[in-house]
Amino acid sequence: MDDDEVKMKEKDSLDSEENDEDEADSDTDKDSDASEPSPLLTRYNPWKEVAIRAESDRRSIENELIKLQKEIQQLYQELKKLKSPPLIIGEIVDILDDNRVVVKSTTGPNFVVHVANFVDKSKITVGTRVSLNRDSLSVIGILTTSKDPIITEAEVIEKPTIRYKDIGGLEPQIEEIKEVVELPLIKPELFRKVGIDPPTGVLLIGPPGTGKTLLAQAVAHETNATYIRLVGSELVQKYIGEGGRLVRELFALAKEKAPSIIFIDELDAIAARRIDSGTSADREVQRTLMQLLAELDGFDPLKNVRIIGASNRPDVLDPALMRPGRFDRIIDIPLPSHEGRLEILYIHTHNMNLKKDVNLEEIASQTEGMSGAELKAICTEAGMFAIREGHHYVSDHNFQQAIDKIKRGDSITQMKEVGAMFA
Ligand code: ATP
Repeated sequence: MDDDEVKMKEKDSLDSEENDEDEADSDTDKDSDASEPSPLLTRYNPWKEVAIRAESDRRSIENELIKLQKEIQQLYQELKKLKSPPLIIGEIVDILDDNRVVVKSTTGPNFVVHVANFVDKSKITVGTRVSLNRDSLSVIGILTTSKDPIITEAEVIEKPTIRYKDIGGLEPQIEEIKEVVELPLIKPELFRKVGIDPPTGVLLIGPPGTGKTLLAQAVAHETNATYIRLVGSELVQKYIGEGGRLVRELFALAKEKAPSIIFIDELDAIAARRIDSGTSADREVQRTLMQLLAELDGFDPLKNVRIIGASNRPDVLDPALMRPGRFDRIIDIPLPSHEGRLEILYIHTHNMNLKKDVNLEEIASQTEGMSGAELKAICTEAGMFAIREGHHYVSDHNFQQAIDKIKRGDSITQMKEVGAMFA
C-alpha cells in the first residue's frame, strides 16, 4: 500500500467515526427532547405563560369596564328620573275643538290646557287619566292603568267557598237575601214577566261580627258570581275627586267581572248624614257619596251586578241612601239567639275533636250577647288551651277557660271605651 492509500483509509475511518458520533448525538438529542425541554424552550415558556395571563387579565378588566359603564349609565338614568319634576295626575273632563282639553287635576279646580304634540290624541276621551306638566299643566302623557291600586287590591274572590250552611242562626235573613239578590241574578225573566224591578241595593245592618260578610260571600257562591269587597273607609281619599273616581272604577270592575256582587263594608264611612260642614275633607267625603248615589241611580237592577252594603251604624246613615232605587231593602242582622248561638257553635266545632263532657247547649246559654265572631273565637281558644295542655281533644274545661278569656277581653275593651268617654 502506498502512502496515498493509507491516508485515504485513515480519512474514511475518521469520517465513519464522526458519523457514528453524530448519530449518537442525535440519539441523545431525541432522548433529551422527550425528557426535558431544550434550553431555548425553557427560556421561552415562562414568558408565554406571562403573556397568556396578561391577556386573560386584560379581557376580564375589559369586561369589568363594560359592566361598570353600564352601571354608570343606569345610575345616570336613575339620577335623571330623580331630578325630573313630578307630574300631576288629571282626568279629561271635556275635549275642545282647538286642540285643547278641560282637565280636572287632583290639585283642585278644572283647567283648559294644551295637549302635547307627541301625545296620541285619538286615545284621549272624556274620563281618560292623563299626566300633566307641573308648570303649564299641559297633557304630556296618557295613563293606561285605569284602575287605581285600591280598586285592583279590593278583595276580589272569583269563587267564594262560603255556603249558606256555613252560616248559623240567620235563616230568615238568608231567605230574604235569596229573594232580593239571588233571584234577580239567576232568574231575571221572572221579574220581567211580573213587570217589577227588584231592589237595587241591599243594606245589611247589625253589630260587628254577626255574619254580614259571610252572607255576601255565600250569596256570591250560590250564584257563581265574583265577590268584590271594598271597605268604605278606603274610598275616603286625600285628594279632591279621587274618592268619586274610585267608586266609578269599582262599578266598572264589577261590570267587567260580571256576574258579580259588590260588597261595601263600613258604608257609614262615606254615607254618613250630610251636615253643613265647612271642612274640605267633609265635602270630599260627600262628593264620594254623591258619586255612589249617581252610580246606584244609573244602575239596571236586572243586569248581572248586585250591590250589598253593610254598616254597624244605621243611625248615622244619610237617608238619601235608602231612597227607592238605591239601598231600598234593609236586612237586619241581629246578635244570635240561643238557637242561633247553638247552630254557630255546631258549625265551628264541626271539625274539632271534642271530649264527651262538652255540652254545646250549656255553652250557648253561657254566651248570651256574643256575636258569631266571638263564638268562633271561643272555639279556637278552647282548641289552643287543649294544645297547651298537650291533649289531642278539647274538653269542657278548655271551653270554660276560653269563655273566661273572651269575656275578660270584652270587659277590657268596654273599660277602655268607658275610659275614653271620661278622658
Ligand atoms: P263586621 O261588621 O265587623 O265586618 P261582619 O258582620 O261582617 O262583621 P263576619 O266578617 O261575617 O262579620 O264574621 C266574622 C267571622 O265570625 C266569620 O268569619 C265567621 O267565622 C264568624 N261568624 C259570624 N257570624 C256567624 C254566623 N252567623 N255563623 C257562622 N259563623 C259566623
